[in-house]
Amino acid sequence: MSVYLDNAATTRPCEPAVSAVFQCMVEDYGNPSSLHKLGLNAEQRVEDARKAIAAALVCDPQCITFTSGATECNNTAVFGAAQNYGKRKKKIVVSAIEHPSLAEPIKYLEEKSGFEVVRIKPSRNGEISEEDFMSAVDEDTFFASCMLVNNETGSIQPVRKVFSYIKRNFPECITHCDAVQGFMKIPIRSADIFADIIVVSGHKVHAVKGVGAMFVKKGIRIPPMLMGGGQERGKRSGTESVPLISGFGAAVRALMPTMSVAHENAEKITAYLLKKLSRLDYVTVNSIAENRSPYITNFSVEGIRSEIMLHFLETQNVYVSSGSACSKGAHSSVLTALGIPDRLADSAIRVSIGRTTTMGEIDALINAVQEGYGKLAKK
Ligand code: PMP
Repeated sequence: MSVYLDNAATTRPCEPAVSAVFQCMVEDYGNPSSLHKLGLNAEQRVEDARKAIAAALVCDPQCITFTSGATECNNTAVFGAAQNYGKRKKKIVVSAIEHPSLAEPIKYLEEKSGFEVVRIKPSRNGEISEEDFMSAVDEDTFFASCMLVNNETGSIQPVRKVFSYIKRNFPECITHCDAVQGFMKIPIRSADIFADIIVVSGHKVHAVKGVGAMFVKKGIRIPPMLMGGGQERGKRSGTESVPLISGFGAAVRALMPTMSVAHENAEKITAYLLKKLSRLDYVTVNSIAENRSPYITNFSVEGIRSEIMLHFLETQNVYVSSGSACSKGAHSSVLTALGIPDRLADSAIRVSIGRTTTMGEIDALINAVQEGYGKLAKK
């Protein structure tokens, strides 16, 4: 039996997603731009998926653009905003714990195009201070970004409060939210969080890798990164990946109705995990935000490097992550931003549970950690 506890890295595609992907490959394989029936069927698939994502974000389907994933959405958002709104205004305000798919393009803009970037540091518990963020935004700020749920610690950020303040006081500033780790886990009504742009990804919600979507509020002009055939209303050219898009829509449609039940279950499982971890005196839990997602728990095992523990757990068929899958063993910039000492950051393990995780699987994890510690800790 394998125990998969790396759902923040990716999830197992659900049956409705797989079946939609399959049908689009064997039946509705037309090009949505073709004028014949096969083309129309494919187009219908894309539009059905658009409606599903829009319903989940409570917005007009016309505001949804499909892309190859959240990385493309984040790049498009910030480069596009810089192009259109960054001529007179020169400042970007962003949390210091963003995913590299946003942090790196912002660093590029800072280094190559001379934008001023203010990075708001989180407190030790992983939360961005609303006051710090709000006071950094001014008349010169054209882009403000804060993620909804941090992918390494699970801390939930005060996006609604910060963005409502920004929109009230600096309505021209574009507000952007990477909601990848919050989508289909906590309710996100586009209007309620005052975000002009919201980014989500298919493979984190039991669809297939290689598809994402961005909500862009009406009136916000984000120029396309890809130009060509004018697909996606000119916002993202390239023949639509109908199978992936349709699979994304199918997963959202199938799983959205049970979001709150899944959340309650995740809370129970995580409470159980935390209780078990608290009995191990060599473990320090790094996910300590008051407001946090029950799907992600980060902890450090004293004296054992993350990769060493990760690979030991793997021998016990337990799959976790060190920091985040994206940092691939590099020192986690998020944990460092939190002020977590190197000794603990070097031994961090991220457990991200899913909809089907059981208490038995948590027992298997804890047993494996105990065994690993017994074997690997320097005596
Ligand atoms: N943002 C966050 C918060 C993420 O966790 C991830 C995936 N690790 C991404 C963006 C990138 O998503 P994708 O894999 O769809 O490009």
